[in-house]
Amino acid sequence: MISTLFANNRAWANEKTNANPEYFLDLSAIQRPEYLWIGCSDSRVPANVITGLEPGEVFVQRNVANLVHPTDLNLLSVVEFAINVLDVRQIIVCGHYGCGGIRAALKGQNHGVVDHWLQPVRDVADANIQCLECIEDEETRINRLCELSIIEQVARLARTPTVRSAWRDGRDLVIHGWVYGLSDGLLTDLNCSIGLGGIRNE
Ligand code: ZN
Repeated sequence: MISTLFANNRAWANEKTNANPEYFLDLSAIQRPEYLWIGCSDSRVPANVITGLEPGEVFVQRNVANLVHPTDLNLLSVVEFAINVLDVRQIIVCGHYGCGGIRAALKGQNHGVVDHWLQPVRDVADANIQCLECIEDEETRINRLCELSIIEQVARLARTPTVRSAWRDGRDLVIHGWVYGLSDGLLTDLNCSIGLGGIRNE
């Protein structure tokens, strides 16, 4: 029921105002998120909820299979605004195990426009065909491709002009690759972080 959403919203706003009468006044004045989250559109992976962050603490862009297309004006605009205006220093590319987009790309069935969107995933699969083919269990294979794709998206983001320009200016900007487990609710760092000085394992 749509009316439930409005009821939930009023209850939530009341709860916040009761705890802090200035809560929305403070939030409406300015946003200073420390993080940019690039994640999958999957409804089970909400950035704020799984990281315990409040409104105002994470800037978010989500798309099917958390991909970085070098011509995606939405993503590029978000990244540019986050870096140049919000002064975000930590970018997290977060995928998740059991991702339907990754599964669709690996299985090669026709789904329409999204097949064009998922081309970078098929490219990653092709580049890693030998290591993927030796994984017998299909779910394990899909999950490995989830990880490989996240690592590739981190590298692709690092090659965008906006990020390269930030590093040229000496900005301490770091891009991380994480994966989320739908079955246990846990985040795992894939240790593929890239910062001003190159690859960072931290
Ligand atoms: Zn997904």
